[in-house]
Amino acid sequence: MFKVVRMSRRLPLLATLTLALIAIPTGVVAAPAPDDLTPVASAAGDGGGGAAPGNVPPAQRPGSGTGDDAPVEPQDTGTALAPLGLRSAALTQDGSVLAWTATTNARWSPASLRRNRQTLCLRLVYEAGGVQSREVCVRRTGATTTLTLARVLKSGGHGPLHALSARVSHRDPRAISARFTLEKAGIPEGSAVRWRVLSSTDGCNVGGTRDCFRARPANGAVLQLRVPLPVGCIPNGPDFVTNGSRAKRVVALTFDDGPSTYTNSFLDVLKQKGVKATFFMIGQQVAPNASIARRVLAEGHEIGDHTWSHPNVSAGGAFASGQITSTANAIQTATGFRPCAFRAPGGAISGSLTSLARGLGFNTIQWDVDTNDWQLPGTEADYQRVVNGVHNGSIVLMHDGGGPRSQGLAALPRIIDTLKARGYGFVTVAQLIGATMTYR
Ligand SMILES: [Zn+2]
Repeated sequence: MFKVVRMSRRLPLLATLTLALIAIPTGVVAAPAPDDLTPVASAAGDGGGGAAPGNVPPAQRPGSGTGDDAPVEPQDTGTALAPLGLRSAALTQDGSVLAWTATTNARWSPASLRRNRQTLCLRLVYEAGGVQSREVCVRRTGATTTLTLARVLKSGGHGPLHALSARVSHRDPRAISARFTLEKAGIPEGSAVRWRVLSSTDGCNVGGTRDCFRARPANGAVLQLRVPLPVGCIPNGPDFVTNGSRAKRVVALTFDDGPSTYTNSFLDVLKQKGVKATFFMIGQQVAPNASIARRVLAEGHEIGDHTWSHPNVSAGGAFASGQITSTANAIQTATGFRPCAFRAPGGAISGSLTSLARGLGFNTIQWDVDTNDWQLPGTEADYQRVVNGVHNGSIVLMHDGGGPRSQGLAALPRIIDTLKARGYGFVTVAQLIGATMTYR
């Protein structure tokens, strides 16, 4: 989902990162250094980079930019390269958002960073199936201060730089403040993040003795991320939805008719695969399975409203309203979250129902891929119907309740593996349609 904006650069080796070593010792974490894809440009101003090969700002490389960066201005001769002095740094969590602030001793701009071959980055190290390291760096897009995100690999290299969707403020010439979601940064909710802010000069070898970087906090700090529990959401787009944008390679798995005795097993699979989904729950089953409903939410899935007792509510009116509202109330009582996605039992909808639901604060969510798993066609059939039916933005209907669900459960790991192999990401319905989750 990230836009690749530039070719990768190589980083000096990141030391063996064990979980215990989630700390970032000074002298171990490396500041970015450009690779040697292109010849070294003018040696002017190379005071910090030394003889490192390829001491060239990335945008100078042919074909590596996106056209939104002006050519690098020549370095003033005689200007010694130095990193920015860091006065303060902070990283906090606000719901699903990370808020980063840093202040520097000197004034800077994205243009001056480039001119002076300086970086200003936030290094993040966390555990997610092994120690992960990512770096968020300040750059310029046109006249705007923006951020890039790169995965720092264990080998010491890092993956492509991506544009990181963020709200960035650089009104104070000695400060940056930025807000971006954990999801956009690829950081799992609930993880412990070791972070520090780094400013370095191009070609800086942090493991060496050259004084070419600054870090604050010097040895990093740990931010223990909470799993942000949403309390509500705001519907978005059309009242009635069968799929998301066909432009994004994502799919929303949805599970209806729970919570049930099968739901925990579905959650186990999703957790093991690192996939988020949406569970459309039957209201009268929520209170007896409140801990399951809470687990659904705590593990980052979305809960939707599937009426109180699963009748046909397509006629709308007070009956439908009562079925929907009582279920939303039960979900809210059990979990603290009030849903904004409604699915009609049997998919039986009408214009009056969908407009009623919207008035109650719901998008009505249909599907475009139906496993018919409730007919128990067999695990293979469940699998084939999904993997053959999915397109970008698809909403897949499965069931975690309402009958024996072993077949769909057995098909789920293969479904996920195959779709992952085809490049699909997995999102909740709210993410798919751009509904806004609200947090306490
Ligand atoms: Zn149903």
